[in-house]
Amino acid sequence: MPALFSLFNDDEGRWMKGNTHTHTTCSDGQLPPQQVADWYRGAGYDFLFLTEHEEKLANPQALPDFAALSSTDFLVLPGLELRLELPNERVAHLLALGTARTGLWRPTWSLSDAAQFALDEGAVPVIDHPYWSGLTYQDIAQVHNAVALEVFNTTCDVVCAKGFARSYWDHLLTQGLSIHGVAADDAHWGRQVPDYGRGWIMVKVKEFSQQGILQALRTGHFYATCGPEFRAVALVGDEVVVETSPVQRINFITDNGYSSVEHAVGDQLLTGARRPLSSFRKFLRIECVDKAGHFAWTNALVFAE
Ligand SMILES: [Zn+2]
Ligand SMILES: [Zn+2]
Repeated sequence: MPALFSLFNDDEGRWMKGNTHTHTTCSDGQLPPQQVADWYRGAGYDFLFLTEHEEKLANPQALPDFAALSSTDFLVLPGLELRLELPNERVAHLLALGTARTGLWRPTWSLSDAAQFALDEGAVPVIDHPYWSGLTYQDIAQVHNAVALEVFNTTCDVVCAKGFARSYWDHLLTQGLSIHGVAADDAHWGRQVPDYGRGWIMVKVKEFSQQGILQALRTGHFYATCGPEFRAVALVGDEVVVETSPVQRINFITDNGYSSVEHAVGDQLLTGARRPLSSFRKFLRIECVDKAGHFAWTNALVFAE
């Protein structure tokens, strides 16, 4: 069964809330690792990836002590953010979730090279904040080996209004690339407006461990959100049926103008919508948007040609 449907219909597994992109004083974050971990644990998160900029590490030997920051009900996991030099003085960043092995990265790597490095390490490569980086569709379409991209990045939204990357995602899905979408904070702390606690993923894991979480990321067993909840997505007969927390609209996103929107009418918010599966072309992903304008995103179902 495709992950879009098995995520909600498979009885196995527990829902875990996590942030996949965070900085501390080990690179350019403004809070030490313990305080960062304490904030996320206190806010009800189950796991947190610390993803320091490799080129900004104060001391490559002094990465956070991930095990010491973790407990039985809260995991602090290793990651790295790799800086890549692109033509025309542009810079791309790629996250390697699941490794903090430094000293191997080169800024001259392409995005694909960096993603391959992550895969070789047993880690999960994520293209982060493509809009902030000014990536072109051509740049991003060359990366066939990334597992996910950040459809939302809190700090890029707070600092320069370039946090969303919905059209980049659709471009890749239209090419037939089955890439997942995460929402993440990229918290640096110390901003005028909080750059933490505003975008996260809800992961369904069979095993609450680093390997269990990485495997759920690889297989797309999660959804991304800035607040609203997906409660069910199922194929009933030939219809896709979705249930959500109360929202203003539910967007069924597919190729070009074949997408459609279910709007709340009057004061009555929506908690669900349905569409025939046959009405979608190339791929289907579902978004919902609450009254405050906060988005949530399912991962995509990509149809075979
Ligand atoms: Zn970055
Ligand atoms: Zn970052």
